[in-house]
Amino acid sequence: MNSPHQHCEVAVIGGGAIGLAVAWRAAQRGMSVVVLERDEVGMGASHVAAGMLAAVGEADPGERGLLELALESAARWPSFAEELAEACGIDPGYRRCGTLRVARDRDEAEALEHEADRRRELGLAVRRLRPSEARAREPALAPTIRQALELPDDHAVDPRLLCATLARAADAAGAQLRERAGVARVLARGERVSGVELADGSLLDCEKVVVAAGCWSGVDGLVPVGAELPVRPVKGQILRLRDPLGPGLLRGVVRVDHAYLVARGDGRYVLGATVEDRGFDTTVTAGGAWELIRDVAEAVPGVLELELEEMTAGLRPGTPDNAPFVGAGVLEGLVWATGHYRNGILLCPVTAELVAAELAGEAGAGIAAAFSPTRFATVGAGALT
Ligand SMILES: Cc1cc2nc3c(=O)[nH]c(=O)nc-3n(C[C@H](O)[C@H](O)[C@H](O)COP(=O)(O)OP(=O)(O)OC[C@H]3O[C@@H](n4cnc5c(N)ncnc54)[C@H](O)[C@@H]3O)c2cc1C
Repeated sequence: MNSPHQHCEVAVIGGGAIGLAVAWRAAQRGMSVVVLERDEVGMGASHVAAGMLAAVGEADPGERGLLELALESAARWPSFAEELAEACGIDPGYRRCGTLRVARDRDEAEALEHEADRRRELGLAVRRLRPSEARAREPALAPTIRQALELPDDHAVDPRLLCATLARAADAAGAQLRERAGVARVLARGERVSGVELADGSLLDCEKVVVAAGCWSGVDGLVPVGAELPVRPVKGQILRLRDPLGPGLLRGVVRVDHAYLVARGDGRYVLGATVEDRGFDTTVTAGGAWELIRDVAEAVPGVLELELEEMTAGLRPGTPDNAPFVGAGVLEGLVWATGHYRNGILLCPVTAELVAAELAGEAGAGIAAAFSPTRFATVGAGALT
């Protein structure tokens, strides 16, 4: 990694998938960029995430704008992954594997019918499968499953590989990655950003600051009073499993009502995830493991034979309307790339493009307007302190 310097054009707070992707795209445009990460890059929520790219599976008809953003990002994923691999010589683990949504009983089958109709009305790709058809695609499914939906456009990526490749690509494009460089606060002169103060008291002057600090983006004192946004942590417990016999149990992603199993394609699986409002707590619990394993084992009994390698909890960056903050806020020079909640990995490509365009002073693309941070701003810039 390059050595730090005391002035740059753009300081990015947070070296998760979002901050790294923004830094990569901004550096590619010729900006001088410094990523300030208080820990190690890629060790926040992005380290814990399953990596489903579930634009269709996570679609909520009540959130049309978010669906549009998710589909836009999903469409960019193949070229994003290819470009990343070329930039740093490592495969980011993108797999075009598709997803099966499975019903375990009659109630779930009815709910799945409604879901299929709603998604079809939105023009999304879904296919209803009989149990035998679903089992032909994924033979490890239990003979007792009642119905399945195929979501052929919902794929997956390995978020840990993604962060490693993004860090290398950003570094290769000229961005500086500074680890153990926590930001204490964003500094402003008048009504515009002037730099950041680090936790060790040192200062970095810059013209623009991108807040990509995940669920910590809303902590008191990080940005000047009046410029804050409501971002809160939403805990998720998740398990990492391994098949000692190698790959073969599952080909892609299987989802049940509140849980999912993602195949990495090499005998490793990710089983997730709880959704809990518990502040910044990241403890893992027996109850969390039990619920997840119970739910998935009813659909894929073979999961019980897998070795448990890791159980972790991560903190999703949640917002009041479940949509991210992407773009400029009320303080000039302060740009937000946060609040991606359950879909930060999916939304990486589109967020990075939109934020890099904003940093370059390009007029906001139409799709960005719905995610403007000013939708929750409490004061105008004149009232900032
Ligand atoms: C269990 C679980 C499963 C998930 N599964 C999926 C999935 O399948 N698909 C999907 O798309 N999304 C998924 N997500 C959501 C996804 O993980 C997040 O939306 C995404 O990782 C957010 O990325 P980020 O870069 O904004 O945040 P993070 O990865 O949390 O990165 C933020 C970084 O900022 C740093 N930081 C914070 N404050 C400061 C500061 N003051 N100074 C310097 N650095 C700071 C932190 O140390 C951290 O490294 C999942 C999340 C969880 C918890």
